[in-house]
Amino acid sequence: MNRTILVIEDEQNINDILTFTLGNEGYNTLSALDGITGLEMALTQNPDLILLDVMLPGIDGYEVCRKVREHSNVPIIMLTAREDEVDKVVGLELGADDYITKPYSNRELSARIKANLRRSAFDNVPSQPTEEQDTIVSGDLVINVDRYEVSKNGEVIDITLREFELLKFLAMQPDKIFSREKLLENVWGYEYYGDVRTVDVTVRRLREKIEDDPSMPKYIITKRGVGYYFNK
Ligand code: CA
Repeated sequence: MNRTILVIEDEQNINDILTFTLGNEGYNTLSALDGITGLEMALTQNPDLILLDVMLPGIDGYEVCRKVREHSNVPIIMLTAREDEVDKVVGLELGADDYITKPYSNRELSARIKANLRRSAFDNVPSQPTEEQDTIVSGDLVINVDRYEVSKNGEVIDITLREFELLKFLAMQPDKIFSREKLLENVWGYEYYGDVRTVDVTVRRLREKIEDDPSMPKYIITKRGVGYYFNK
C-alpha cells in the first residue's frame, strides 16, 4: 500500500512542487494551503506523514502541530526558513519529529521522509508479546526493542520515534558517554544538517516522559561539556 503524505504549505508553487515530487516517488499526496484545512485533513484523512510549513495563514504550523499531537502520533516534519533558528526548537518542543530547512534538496527531503515513515511501520507491529522479545530493563523502565515500546511501572509511555531511538541507542550502551554530534549521527541516522540543540530538546522531552523528576534525571544523565549517557 502506498503511503499518504499530507503537505500543508500556503505557497502554491512550493506545494505543487512538493506534491509532484512526492507523487513521482510513489507516495499518495494530500495538500492544504492553510492551517485550518491542513489540521482538518490531518485529523480526518489519516495521513502516514505530514510536511508542515511554519508560516501559514489562519493558524500557523506550530498550532497545527500542537493540535494534531493531541490526537495523533503521525510523524510531522516541519518546514522552516533558514534564518529562523528558533523555529526548529519550538517545533520540536511542540511534538514535531523532525524539520527541514528551506531551501532543501529533493535528496534530503526524501531521506527525511523515509526515516520518519519507519514510525508508521512499527505502528502496525502486532502487540502480541513473543518469547524472543528483545528488552532492556533498568529500574522501573522496560524498553522493548522489537515493539518500539517503553513502559514504566508497567504502563506504556507515549513516545515518538526519535525519543525511542535515542533512548534505545543510549540504553544499549549504558554508561558510555556520547557527544551530541555522535548522537545526531547515530540516532538521526543520515547526514543531518541540523544543530545539536535537536539532541538537547529530544533529551528534555524524553526525560519528561521517563524520569520521576526530569530536573534530577536518573536514566539519561548529562555529562557537562561532553554529552549524554544512560545510567543503568
Ligand atoms: Ca508559508
